[in-house]
Amino acid sequence: MQSLPSDSARQPGAEAKASLTSLRGVGPALAEKLGRLSIRQPADLLFLLPQRYEDRTRVTPLGSLRAGQAAVIDAEVELTEVVYRRRRSLLCRLSDGTGQLTLRFFYFSRAQQNGLQRGARLRAYGSVRTGPAGLEIVHPEYRLLGTGPAPELEDRLTPIYPATEGLQQTRLRGLVGQAMAQCLGHLHDWLPAEHLAELDLPDLEAALSYLHQPPAGADLAQLAAGTHPCQRRLALEEMLAHHLSLRLIREATRTERAIPIAADSDLAEQFLAQLNFKLTGGQQQALAEIGADMAQSHPMMRLVQGDVGCGKTVVAAAAALAAVATGQQVAIMAPTELLAEQHRESFFRWFDPLGVRVVWLSGSLRGKARDRALQEMADGRAQVVIGTHALFQEGVEYQQLGLVVVDEQHRFGVHQRLQLMEKGNDGSFRPHQLVMTATPIPRTLAMTVYADLDVSVISELPPGRQPINTVALPEERRGDVVTRVREACAEGRRAYWVCPLIEDSEALPSQAVESTHAMLSQALGEIPVGLIHGRMKPEAKDRAMKQFAAGKLSVLVATTVIEVGVDVPEATLMIIENAERMGLSQLHQLRGRVGRGSDASACVLLYRAPLSRLARERLDTMRRVSDGFELARKDLELRGPGEVLGTRQTGLAQLRVADLARDADLALPVQTLGQHLLKTSTAAVQAIIARWVGEAGRFGQV
Ligand code: ADP
Ligand code: MG
Repeated sequence: MQSLPSDSARQPGAEAKASLTSLRGVGPALAEKLGRLSIRQPADLLFLLPQRYEDRTRVTPLGSLRAGQAAVIDAEVELTEVVYRRRRSLLCRLSDGTGQLTLRFFYFSRAQQNGLQRGARLRAYGSVRTGPAGLEIVHPEYRLLGTGPAPELEDRLTPIYPATEGLQQTRLRGLVGQAMAQCLGHLHDWLPAEHLAELDLPDLEAALSYLHQPPAGADLAQLAAGTHPCQRRLALEEMLAHHLSLRLIREATRTERAIPIAADSDLAEQFLAQLNFKLTGGQQQALAEIGADMAQSHPMMRLVQGDVGCGKTVVAAAAALAAVATGQQVAIMAPTELLAEQHRESFFRWFDPLGVRVVWLSGSLRGKARDRALQEMADGRAQVVIGTHALFQEGVEYQQLGLVVVDEQHRFGVHQRLQLMEKGNDGSFRPHQLVMTATPIPRTLAMTVYADLDVSVISELPPGRQPINTVALPEERRGDVVTRVREACAEGRRAYWVCPLIEDSEALPSQAVESTHAMLSQALGEIPVGLIHGRMKPEAKDRAMKQFAAGKLSVLVATTVIEVGVDVPEATLMIIENAERMGLSQLHQLRGRVGRGSDASACVLLYRAPLSRLARERLDTMRRVSDGFELARKDLELRGPGEVLGTRQTGLAQLRVADLARDADLALPVQTLGQHLLKTSTAAVQAIIARWVGEAGRFGQV
C-alpha cells in the first residue's frame, strides 16, 4: 500500500507526543511496521481510510439476493453433494422459504462436508454471483447455527482497510478503534467552519469517525463511488494540501534570483525571419508571456500547454535564442532518447547557421564524446545542450545555465523539475524554467494541480493542416488496410504501423512488431518497411527513424516509442493495431504523428472484436473528435485522472481520497480556501501539508 503522510506536525494538543506504543497491543515491532507506513502516532491511524465496506448489519432473504451483491444470509441446508464437473467441488443448496442459493467450495474437508448436512442452519457472508444453477456464493465465510436464537449482527458497516503486510483486518480495526477513542475530540480542524458550511461538508472529526464506522443503513453505493460528503470533505483537504504545497514552491521560487533575459534579441528575430512560416497567434502569445517572465529577476516557471502539432518546439527555440543572446546556456530536456534526438536535429538545423553551438548529451553517450560534451558544458562553449534526464545527473555542470526547457512534461515530475533548479550558475541564480506539454487538462483543474506554474495555452494548430480522417476497423479487415498502404506508398506517401505492447500476453514485447514487420515486408514486396521498438539500440532506432524521415523507408512498423514528438511531415497514414486497448490520450498522441504536412492524412484504428462498452466509446470518440482539449475532457470522464494525470505529471503522488475527475468540482473551492489560508494562517498551511503530503511536502523548501 501507499505510505501514509505523517500527522505529527499538526497536533497542538496533548496527544501530539503520544506514541503508538500507548495503544494496547502495540509493541516496538508493530510500531516499526506501522512507521514504515508513516503511521507514527495514534492520530495518523485515523487517516488510514477504509478501501471499501462490508454490510453485515442485516440478513438478506435469499429471494431478494442479486448477483454482484455481498450479503449476510441465514438459511437451511437442503442438499450437500460433491460434484465432478470440470473441477471437484462441494455444492451446498440452501433455502430459507423465500428462495434458494448454492454455496460452492473448491477446497473442503470431510468434516466440513459432514457439518453441512440436510437440515443444518447456517449464517454465511459472501459475494453473490450467477452460477450454472442460479445464484451462488463461492467460498463464503460461514458458521453453523445451533437451535437457539440467531447471533447478533454488526451494528455498523465493516471497514476493509488497504491490505497491509503482516497486519490483519481485525487487528487494524481494533487499532483504529483505539486511536479514535484516544484522539477524537482533540483533532484540529484547519478548515474554517463557514467554508465547510457553504460547501455542505462535515467537519474533520465527523467525517473521520463516519468513514471508519459508518452506521447501519449508510449509503453503500455512495461510499463505494467515493461521493459521500464525508469522503468529499477529506478529498477537499487532501487536494488543498497538494495545492498548498505547490503554491509554496511557487512562492519560494519568487524569492529566488534569476538572471533577466531580454526577449527581443536579434538572434531570435533572425531565427523567426528565416522560418518558412509565420508563428500562429497562439505561438506569439505564448512567446510574449515567456518573454515577460524571463525579463524578471526571479525564475520563470511556465507551462506551455498545446495540442500535438501546435508548434511548441519553435516557441522553445525562440526562447532559447533569447537566453543565448544574453550569454546564458540553455538545457533542453526530452523524456526519451528518440525525442531528444529529434530535437537535436531540429535545433542543429536551426541554430548552426546562426553560429550557435548545440551539444548533445544522453545516457548512451560514452567515453571521449561524453567527456568532450561535459567539458563544453562546464566551460560554457556549449550554448545549447540537448538530451535526456542525463542533462541533470551527478557530475554534470554548467557554466551559466539560464534557461531549462522540459518537453512533454508528463514524463517528468515536480521533484525532477526542482532538481533542475538547483543546477543554477554558481548557486546564487536559478535558471528560468519552461515546461511544455501536449496533455491538456481543464482550466480549473490545471490551476489546482499546476499551482506552481504559470500556464500559457496554444489553442490553434498552424493553418493549412488537413483534418485527419479517422476510421475504426475490425482486425479482419487488415488485408484491405495493407492494400491501402501499398497504394499510398506507390504515390510516394509514408505510413506508420503501430503495434502496442500487450502487457498481459505471453509474447515477447518485440514479437508483435516483428511479426507485423515480416507480414508487411512480404505483403508489400518492393516497398521498404522498417522497424523500430524500445529494445533496439539507440543508434539502430536513430537509423530507422532517419531513413523513414528521408523517405528511404516507406513504412515504419513501431511500438508506441513513437508516441511523443516525432515529426515526419510526409507521413500521412497511421495504422494502430489493438487500438481498443489504448486510452484516448495515447491514441491522440499517436494520431498526431500524421497530419503534419499539407497532404490529407488518415488514421486507421484496428481493433479486435468484441469491444467493451468503454472501448467502443473511445474508438467512437476518436472518430468524431480531433481537438486535444475535447479529447482530454472525454478521457478524464472515461478513465479517471489517476491515469490521465499520472502522478509523474502532476506530482500528486499520494492522492488517497481525492480523485481529480470525480472531485473536479472541488478544484475551485480548493483555490479559494488555499488563497484564504495562505493569507491568514501559516500554521494551518503547514499543518495541512504535513498531514496529507508529509515528507514529500518538504520539497516546498527548495
Ligand atoms: P508540438 O507542439 O507537437 O511539439 P512541433 O513543434 O513538433 O509540435 O511542430 C509540428 C510541426 O509544425 C513542425 O513540423 C513544425 O515545423 C511545424 N510548425 C510549427 N509552427 C508552425 C507554424 N506557425 N506554421 C506552420 N508550421 C508550423
Ligand atoms: Mg513536441
